[in-house]
Amino acid sequence: MAIERTLSIIKPDAVAKNVIGQIYSRFEGAGLKIVAARMTQLSRAEAEGFYAVHAARPFFKDLVDFMVSGPVMITVLEGENAIAAHRDLMGATDPKKAEKGTIRADFADSIDANAVHGSDAAETAATEIAYYFPALNVYSR
Ligand code: UDP
Repeated sequence: MAIERTLSIIKPDAVAKNVIGQIYSRFEGAGLKIVAARMTQLSRAEAEGFYAVHAARPFFKDLVDFMVSGPVMITVLEGENAIAAHRDLMGATDPKKAEKGTIRADFADSIDANAVHGSDAAETAATEIAYYFPALNVYSR
């Protein structure tokens, strides 16, 4: 089992619903530890840069509009197999398809307003963590 780090974002819909703590309880309960945290209102440029891989997709503008619609809570989570563990806790992108008991099944309203983001692989985790956190702001065990 490898100790990994993953980038986690509580999206504006979940921040607005006041469920940040409930979501972090699930991460902590699964053995993931918060090692960096930042609450922020993303600029359009930041949201567009973060989701650049989706720039050509039809949902890109709506996704950026949504991500700048209110504050987000961004954290780096550390733990055993953190990337897959976090994605398992999130559930499928579309909350209607997300397994019962996952964060998206319980807190998300739609495929675009889907409560959380989590890195999908080691390389993207490294890029996404570097995008939001300078190394000095990460507090490991
Ligand atoms: N998204 C959307 N419509 C779609 C597919 C994706 O609005 O048809 C949004 C959704 O917020 C999703 C994000 O784009 O979380 C990134 O998509 P990805 O396929 O990477 O899903 P994720 O890794 O977040 O489950």
